[in-house]
Amino acid sequence: MKIAVLALQGAFIEHEKKLWQLGAQAKEIRQRRDLNDSFDGLIIPGGESTVMDKLLRELDLFDDVKTRIKEGLPTFGTCAGLILLAKRVENGGEHLSLMDIAACRNAYGRQLGSFSTEEDFAGMGKIPMTFIRAPYILEAYGQAEPLANVDGKIVAARQDNMLVTAFHPELNDDLTVHKYFLDMCR
Ligand code: GLN
Repeated sequence: MKIAVLALQGAFIEHEKKLWQLGAQAKEIRQRRDLNDSFDGLIIPGGESTVMDKLLRELDLFDDVKTRIKEGLPTFGTCAGLILLAKRVENGGEHLSLMDIAACRNAYGRQLGSFSTEEDFAGMGKIPMTFIRAPYILEAYGQAEPLANVDGKIVAARQDNMLVTAFHPELNDDLTVHKYFLDMCR
């Protein structure tokens, strides 16, 4: 299985390492011609949503990426990736706008908003969750289903081919979320 990882900015190498650990191949997307290759899924990593949005547009990747996800490409967005996929963003602009979630950007405060905890993910048991200037999901409506909560806030959700987490599963040893995503890609 080959998974594309958007490698414009942010924590993409950590996702690649997880994919290798699970026996999948990783393919970095840096420019338009990288989209010509075939792949089974896409990861949009954490980083800075405004910068990633700007680069997607400047490199003329925005429309193609949006269309592919809309057409069913399994896609996993972490943190800034969640913000890019959300249809509604509080404290931020409009980006790919594909998923029925309202995200609150920098919801835990700008600088002091980094912390770790353990909570259940998708009924699969407790997993470590690391948050870095993270958003949370104010509301999952329409077709989006919450998959995890921390302190009464939704921090992971799924809608058809799209999975998002406000936390960074690529920064902990646990493989649950990446396994879950690879199952979506099969
Ligand atoms: N605060 C960042 C943003 O607004 C997200 C942080 C992250 O991806 N770790 O895009």
